[in-house]
Amino acid sequence: MRASVAAAWPAHVDHYEGTLTWMYLDTKLKVTTGVGNLIDSIAAAQAAGPWFKPDGTQATDAEVATEWKRVKALTSLAKQSGWAYRTSARLNLTPTRVAELLSTTTDRFWAELVQRWPVLDAAPADAQLAGLDLAWQNGYAFLELKTGTSWTWPNMRAAWTAADWTKAAAAVPGTGERADARKRLFRNAAQVVALGLDRNVLWDTTTPTAPTTVLALGEEPYVAQAKVAFRGGWTCSCVAKSLPMVENYMLMKGLIQFNIDIFQLGYNGGGVAASAGTHDAGGCTDVGQYSDAQIQAWRECGWTMQHRTPAQGFSHHAHGWPLGCPHMSAGARSQATQWANGTNGLASYGRITGKYPIDNWQTAYTKRSAEIMGFKDDVAELAAKKVLAALPAPAKVPTAKEIAQAVLNLDEVPNTFTSNADNKSVSPKTALSTLGSESQAMLDAAKRIESAVQLLIAAGPTPPVAATQK
Ligand SMILES: [Zn+2]
Ligand SMILES: [Zn+2]
Repeated sequence: MRASVAAAWPAHVDHYEGTLTWMYLDTKLKVTTGVGNLIDSIAAAQAAGPWFKPDGTQATDAEVATEWKRVKALTSLAKQSGWAYRTSARLNLTPTRVAELLSTTTDRFWAELVQRWPVLDAAPADAQLAGLDLAWQNGYAFLELKTGTSWTWPNMRAAWTAADWTKAAAAVPGTGERADARKRLFRNAAQVVALGLDRNVLWDTTTPTAPTTVLALGEEPYVAQAKVAFRGGWTCSCVAKSLPMVENYMLMKGLIQFNIDIFQLGYNGGGVAASAGTHDAGGCTDVGQYSDAQIQAWRECGWTMQHRTPAQGFSHHAHGWPLGCPHMSAGARSQATQWANGTNGLASYGRITGKYPIDNWQTAYTKRSAEIMGFKDDVAELAAKKVLAALPAPAKVPTAKEIAQAVLNLDEVPNTFTSNADNKSVSPKTALSTLGSESQAMLDAAKRIESAVQLLIAAGPTPPVAATQK
């Protein structure tokens, strides 16, 4: 089961079934507790404990057996629901114990289900949640059930056999919130497959399942939005979140000197005829960073950027979107289908060149952010060494502010942290001022430098610094 499904499952099943801490009979007259946890033997009921009496004391095994027999005989209430047993219940589990039981039971249940339907193992998260939810209510062998000599669920069987999630959505019986959720989840899964999106992500963010969030470089939680203002235009939150990180990554790699050059963002209906509607909504972005090395960096950051050329009828630029962006126009979605099939999104259906396949942008964001944070530490350490060399033997540790100022005063510092011959003008000064162009980030950089200085001082004599190369 994908981690996103496991994380969403307790809230999901609690929303539809409720969490019952007492014993009750299910519709098949089997003793049950928690969120559908079968305890249809005295031994099973005892193992599910500890059980507690209304006065808060723990029940003995004998008391658990007595309660189990009482509930087992109370068949008159079974036609209602588990809640009908609440008033007369004499023993209860703690909510923590119920959560533990759900986790254990779900693991066993999922193993039984996947053994019968291995297709679920590779299915997108949304299909896994819908399949688990269906089976949870109908039994993990529900697709093996027969009515007379015919399958009880012929259409669902056919859909799962073919891994056809559109058909699975159509085969969901009934109406109401839970049925609607199952249909929606299966339809999401069909989209995820068609567009080549990340199957690990649970795309359904309708309650009760919690949305997945991405944390920035130590910043506030990310909230997905279809349309946001960004650098003088409009785009979606995927671009607004990811592109500045790509910028930091390219600075770190020495692939740009200041910023990414944006030629076109989104929500630009009819703006550029050559774009064929791909920029009518979010996701798609045109930029000036299209060298092979820059395309490689985009891909490492989870972007589908491809170099568009005069030979293809364009002026030189790169066009692409953050992979997994759900905010794209119909024209862009057809390109996403091409991307999933390894073709370039043009009428020629040429093959994609360069790094392929790539991570979903959110996955890439997490990986690259960690590298950038490490790089900032390296920059801070180098800067600290230079500051220490420039200062007289320090009588006291300089303040973060003094150090930051000293770094910014170090003009013409040779480029000591990239070997990229095309990028010799990147210095600690430009790297620090660009990476930390906002005041909070600048302060953060200064604090990192201060820590680095303290470490160096604690380490003993000032280390030798390479001779300045003017
Ligand atoms: Zn474009
Ligand atoms: Zn987006």
